[in-house]
Amino acid sequence: MILDFLFPNRCLDCNQLIDKDEIVCEICKDNIHFSNHQFCDSNGLKEKASLLFPVENAFSLMLYEKESLAQKIIQQLKYNHREKLGKILAEWTIEKLNFENQKPDLIAPVPLHPKKLKQRGYNQLHIFGNELSRHYQIPINHQLLKRTKHSKAQAKKGQSERLKTKNAYQLTEKICDKHILLIDDVYTTGNTSSNIAWEILQNSENVKISLLVMAMDV
Ligand SMILES: [Zn+2]
Repeated sequence: MILDFLFPNRCLDCNQLIDKDEIVCEICKDNIHFSNHQFCDSNGLKEKASLLFPVENAFSLMLYEKESLAQKIIQQLKYNHREKLGKILAEWTIEKLNFENQKPDLIAPVPLHPKKLKQRGYNQLHIFGNELSRHYQIPINHQLLKRTKHSKAQAKKGQSERLKTKNAYQLTEKICDKHILLIDDVYTTGNTSSNIAWEILQNSENVKISLLVMAMDV
């Protein structure tokens, strides 16, 4: 395409030319701090999340530090219209994530409020979730959860405002006897995951909740 010629794709880290579907070159990929979490063992994410809600298993692909490559990649995915990065992040996840005998039954992505979705044009978890669903043969339900309240970015909020985001998510159907894998981009305070987990747990029967994120704050 003429656009590929005019605006060739460059490595996000070292700026050298790379294939149009890549985000970093092979060398810079080594600069990404992957977490090396094992889904079925205890790990940093599971420990953090366990303080907020009952979590079965947890996995974070990368560690999210300020100015890190993980941060830059996720910013590109969310704020620079690079929706297709979800596919690369899913491929990296597939390289590292083994569910062993604890494979979840259903994938549920964290939803965006319709206003936010309209603004951004896509949910950054859509391609990511679909790729994981296809590879692991786990159904995905993009409509299982609904974001009912529109609010400012978490980081800009004070404590009292953060409390108001309670119940900002709504479960759209009752779930029975399932192990649900909640997926999100970045785990920071755990506020989002926790709100969703409790909404699911309070309105379902015999469910287990696991968590998968692209990156976790360290
Ligand atoms: Zn590079």
